[in-house]
Amino acid sequence: MDFKVNPLDLNTAADHSRVEKVLILGSGPAGMAAALYAARADLNPLVLAGTEIGGQAALTNTIENYPGFPDGIGGAELGELFQKQAERFGARVEYDMATRVDFSKKPFKVFTYDKEYQAESIIISTGASSIKLNVPGEQELTGRGVSYCATCDGWFFKGKQVVVVGGGDSALEEAIFLTRFASQVTIIHRRDQLRAGAILQRRAQENPKIKFILNSVVTEIRGSDAVHSLRLKNVISGEESDYATDGVFVFIGHKPNTELFQGQLEMDSRGYIQVNQLMQTSVPGVFAAGEAADPNYRQVITSAGMGAAAAIQVTHFLEDNV
Ligand code: NAP
Repeated sequence: MDFKVNPLDLNTAADHSRVEKVLILGSGPAGMAAALYAARADLNPLVLAGTEIGGQAALTNTIENYPGFPDGIGGAELGELFQKQAERFGARVEYDMATRVDFSKKPFKVFTYDKEYQAESIIISTGASSIKLNVPGEQELTGRGVSYCATCDGWFFKGKQVVVVGGGDSALEEAIFLTRFASQVTIIHRRDQLRAGAILQRRAQENPKIKFILNSVVTEIRGSDAVHSLRLKNVISGEESDYATDGVFVFIGHKPNTELFQGQLEMDSRGYIQVNQLMQTSVPGVFAAGEAADPNYRQVITSAGMGAAAAIQVTHFLEDNV
């Protein structure tokens, strides 16, 4: 018998009139792990990659705590490997972003700017985004000295002085990374104790390019074409001062990217999608994984684990609901 492959059967691109078995929203570690597991279950998943391809992990210079990479791995590189592995088993990735969803009846509908997708099941892995300081000057000077990504923008600050705001793991890790470029990195933290883990604290404290201003908050970012200074307030004494700097990197935590699902899924007061141990949301057939549903761990490995779990549960859901 002569078997000929019909190119249309290869199904490498999405056919928008069809009902997908599983549609995955987001392409970070949770989304790509879900895609890998769903693909290996022969569900031919479609991933809408969103605007942040690879998720926040792709913005991280080096990931040192993802098992299997004893020397660390670049965040963007890890994201590419996740995608390649999922695609090898039949996952499809579209560079599109959901703008509206309708989970009120089946098939579920997901709308982008110019398309409509339908699916029997959904995995939400839309991740989280940087929290802003919300001070005067921040928005106007974003991209002109204010940044939320050291990996993306550090290079522009060669030989310059920069400030990092925050006292958690992200702030210290990114401050250490910025010392590759900047002549001096000042960490400004609102308390007298850092939140970051001991190893990062020690590395930052031992780095001769890093200095700390504690018990202080940024109340204004100043500059016209570029940042030139900050207004600082000491939270103990109330004293205010000006601090000259060429750049401000803000790492004060993240908020889940879940506005899209308001009114359709149950969430907690901070906007994290509520899931049970089976990654099920309040709508049967809609699952959530990664930082959109995880206020606690927010690690590449935990997000990837949630993604895998969600895909396994989708497989059971589809078996029970055909
Ligand atoms: P985080 O742990 O929530 O830390 C946020 C920091 O910003 C805290 O120091 C907080 O101060 C400060 N902050 C919050 N709101 C502020 C405001 N409005 N003004 C000034 N400062 C403010 O966030 P993260 O550092 O992004 O880390 C998130 C998660 O990822 C954590 O679980 C962390 O362990 C993990 N992570 C791990 C690694 C690693 O293992 N290498 C690297 C990066 C991130 P307070 O301390 O006073 O609350």
